[in-house]
Amino acid sequence: YLSYFEAKCTTSKKMMGEAEKVIPGAVQHNLAFNYPFPLAFSKAEGAFLHDVDGNKYIDFLQAGGPTVLGSNPEPVREKVIELLNSCGPSTGLFHEYEMKLASFICHRFKGVEMFRMLGSGTEACMAAVRVARVATKKKNIIKLGGAYHGWSDQLSYGNRIPGLRFLESHGIPLACFKYTQEVFPNDIAALEKQLKWNRIRGGTAAVFMEPMGPESGTRPLDYDYNAQARDLCTKYGALLVFDEVVTAFRIGVDGAQGYFGVTPDLTIFGKVVAGGYPSAGGIGGKTEYMACLAGGLGGKKSKKAHVGGTMAANPLSSAAGYYTVKMIEETNACEVAGKAGDRLTQGLQTLIDTYGLPFVAYNQGSICHLETVGTMLFDINIFRPWEIPAKIKEIHARKDVMTHMGAAYMAEGLVTLAGSRLYTSAADTDEIIDDALTRFE
Ligand code: PMP
Repeated sequence: YLSYFEAKCTTSKKMMGEAEKVIPGAVQHNLAFNYPFPLAFSKAEGAFLHDVDGNKYIDFLQAGGPTVLGSNPEPVREKVIELLNSCGPSTGLFHEYEMKLASFICHRFKGVEMFRMLGSGTEACMAAVRVARVATKKKNIIKLGGAYHGWSDQLSYGNRIPGLRFLESHGIPLACFKYTQEVFPNDIAALEKQLKWNRIRGGTAAVFMEPMGPESGTRPLDYDYNAQARDLCTKYGALLVFDEVVTAFRIGVDGAQGYFGVTPDLTIFGKVVAGGYPSAGGIGGKTEYMACLAGGLGGKKSKKAHVGGTMAANPLSSAAGYYTVKMIEETNACEVAGKAGDRLTQGLQTLIDTYGLPFVAYNQGSICHLETVGTMLFDINIFRPWEIPAKIKEIHARKDVMTHMGAAYMAEGLVTLAGSRLYTSAADTDEIIDDALTRFE
């Protein structure tokens, strides 16, 4: 398939050869899925992508999650063009769309009474750490093993691989993790143990979780885990932070918190909140905590959590976000995309069963996972130090498999997120999903 792939994508290959000289790794964004070389795309439309060689792809990357309506929907684009014509992309000053988007979110999300837009999900997670520390006057942050909360220093601890305490990046002094701990997902006793232990070392400011499961649902959480974590946070005076960067407006217009009926103290937004346009991040929460961002409710004695961002809440992203989430609600897009996700996942699992492959397909609505069976998923909680070398070997093997699968899918005209995550959108019809399944086969 590699020679087939290369023959189809000669212009991309040439462009990437040039790009490599001026851009580290040749691309600015998708470093994770560039085997055998990154592709250059020229057009995105609904469920499809077109590359510079004229190949058409069914798009299950969907920009990494933001485009629940499909790529570049016309009604949103028209509104954005209108706004660009009237005031340009940014003013650095208040704009009506900040207000409209914030009101929409506050009305839909049970855990959000106030909302502050920021530049990215990473920034929003950083802001949540700060707000939680100011609001609780406590220090520690607990996250679940295997979670991804952006690439900031203090939250990069244990990224993506539960139990390994593996750092995704070099260049982070261990001191950055002095107040960050990781507990295994689905082990509620371990969470309580850590909360108890933290009482004598500065207290717990926040428990961060992706409510569908670490690395946004790859390792699903037991249905009751969110509610149990909610109770523990209340008991120990820690803020419960739901990182809904992936799930907000994708699982539903009221997010995963609506789905589970569990109300967090702070909610992190990203991706869909700017409708696929730039500057996609935000933090929402109860007034008593969010007020820290503006100096607190206690007058001069209050402490302030300072956050910033030249481009945060610019009119373009706010308007794009507002019209996107409104259209998602009006067209029931989460449900439509979710049904496409069900159809895709069931079809993939049928292929896996038919061919007896060591894979598993599962989904949470429009968030679909196609994983290798084994350590990476469900038996992860039993790591012991002496098991680590074998696990690392297995993890590398899994990564190699997924890299090759991702490239093989690409050769068949299917764009996925690193071969293992597939986002469906409301633009995916039954015919498109069935066409994709034929290509997967
Ligand atoms: N949290 C989660 C759950 C995410 O999936 C991501 C991005 N994939 C982030 C935070 C970071 O968001 P951003 O890429 O906008 O910085």
